[in-house]
Amino acid sequence: MKPKIWLSPPHMCGEEQKFISQAFSTNWIAPLGPNVDGFESDIESYLQNDCHVAALSSGTAAIHLALILLGIESNDEVICQSFTFSGSANPILYLGATPIFIDSEKNSWNLCPEQLEIAITDRISKGKKPKAIIAVHLYGMPYQTEAINRIGRNYDIPIIEDSAEALGSSRHNVKCGSLGDLSILSFNGNKIITTSGGGALIAKNIDTKKRAIFLATQARDEDIAYLHSNIGFNYRMSNILAGIGRGQMTALESYVTKRRFIFDYYEQNLSHIKELEFLHEADGNYSNRWLSCFLTPNYENREMLRIRLSKENIESRPLWRPLHQQPIFKNSPSYLNGISDDLFDRGLCLPSGSNITTKDLDKIISIIKACF
Ligand SMILES: *Cc1c(COP(=O)(O)O)cnc(C)c1O
Repeated sequence: MKPKIWLSPPHMCGEEQKFISQAFSTNWIAPLGPNVDGFESDIESYLQNDCHVAALSSGTAAIHLALILLGIESNDEVICQSFTFSGSANPILYLGATPIFIDSEKNSWNLCPEQLEIAITDRISKGKKPKAIIAVHLYGMPYQTEAINRIGRNYDIPIIEDSAEALGSSRHNVKCGSLGDLSILSFNGNKIITTSGGGALIAKNIDTKKRAIFLATQARDEDIAYLHSNIGFNYRMSNILAGIGRGQMTALESYVTKRRFIFDYYEQNLSHIKELEFLHEADGNYSNRWLSCFLTPNYENREMLRIRLSKENIESRPLWRPLHQQPIFKNSPSYLNGISDDLFDRGLCLPSGSNITTKDLDKIISIIKACF
């Protein structure tokens, strides 16, 4: 069997071991310590914009805490981009709240401002104003930040920016991860940088960060004798894993450069095939190109390509299945225009890891070319 070419495998740069060794030699083997503080301040200096970062056990945990910080309770409604990974919306269900799914627009494949506004006015007319909006920079491509923020402000609904796939991307030179009222990052094994598993919540002020850390560390009141007056969570990041994160942060810019190179390489070598469509950066968008993807003419074509690649032990995947199609969310109202259904039918993600070789890229390209 040929060695597998993965979609987006971890890519260690070599600096990680140093921070992990420090954790061992100082015995900081705990969900707190110098690497956790250091990783948070590394991300804060990277994002700028007066961000306050709480390192957590996952991106999903960060969304859960973001919803709690915004006061979401059972039976509330929370708007969420439909075209995303289920991790974006599962925390809405944890709280017994109802997700309201909104379709995408063609420029970024993300939250459609028109559908968003239609949904908000419709929910209000039905007697319930949504309590939050979860917008996602899918595959690293920034959503229409100004339009979405304007709608959020007009209706006084806070925005949770799901930047799990978009560390290193920016919108008009402002870094993704700093564009929402609250923002989240993921450091899962497949993301642009990884701590094997991990995430972060990004707040606009220090008090919110402190509140997030309080909730993430079992909500212990200031009393020596285990006093709790809030529901707490065990969501803090380990000091070992934060060491991996510190090492990864030193390589982030080079990984973004490499992933953008990979996208350009696929496009340059495949764009003469008229059947394939690549998503370009709309004005003001800078994408980390977390995953390189393209659209094929139809579902059969996409499956033909995917199976052909998999026969060569090359991992490729359909785009995310829209959440309004998921059995788990079947009771959720949704506001649709057909775009995410079409993207799901026709789209394919190609191997995009920052450690892929040009030889492997050439092999993938020649297999795709042979299919047309
Ligand atoms: C990965 C991901 C998440 C969840 O992050 P985890 O760290 O895996 O919990 C949420 N939203 C999006 C868009 C993601 O890609």
